[in-house]
Amino acid sequence: MDFDQFIKEVGQCKKCRLSQTRKNVVPGEGSRKAEIMFIGEGPGKNEDEQGKPFVGAAGKFLDQMLQLIGFKREDIYIANVVKCRPPNNRDPLPDEAEACWPWLNLQLKLIKPKVIVLLGRHSAARFIPNIHISSEHGQPFRKDISALGKVILYPCYHPAAALYNGGLRQTLVKDFKKIPKILEIARQYQLEEKTKKEKETKEKPTDPKQSRLF
Ligand code: URA
Ligand code: SF4
Repeated sequence: MDFDQFIKEVGQCKKCRLSQTRKNVVPGEGSRKAEIMFIGEGPGKNEDEQGKPFVGAAGKFLDQMLQLIGFKREDIYIANVVKCRPPNNRDPLPDEAEACWPWLNLQLKLIKPKVIVLLGRHSAARFIPNIHISSEHGQPFRKDISALGKVILYPCYHPAAALYNGGLRQTLVKDFKKIPKILEIARQYQLEEKTKKEKETKEKPTDPKQSRLF
């Protein structure tokens, strides 16, 4: 499925109960070639009304932090674990996150980010089971993801949780400031992987039976 098909189909999705109460599906937004993807939990009231991710108070804070580290929304991609708003902003239920997972997996395959910033414990736990966000935020994890191969996962606090808590806010800003460096390292890793693979193919001895054919 290509990106346009994805947008069309996710817009009509009824795979879980959240489809009954949503106003708009919020598939995600940003560059389809982003090297870095941010994954939140799920749309809130404003997002549900506009069909866009992180446009409310948490979104404004996210924008400020992105600006601080020299990133524009257009350069990155922002998605959520569930694409439809849970009623009254409750946490997404496990079966809803499960039902929506194929969409997120498809986004990962289409965009192929090098770094995935996991915003909040719900998003982080989808990729790093048993994570303790309070002790493991701000630590990059290098992991093999079936949709992508090796990527860097970077768990952080959720901007909505940090918004009205001075301590968490400072911590989140501090963690965000490390993102440019992490992206640099991820680029380096990918280059090394590519060179390694090229070297392996070059050094592979050719099958004598095969070579006789030419
Ligand atoms: N919180 C989220 O997790 N996602 C949004 O899109 C907005 C707020
Ligand atoms: Fe479909 Fe996901 Fe919306 Fe559920 S939350 S209806 S799985 S798009």
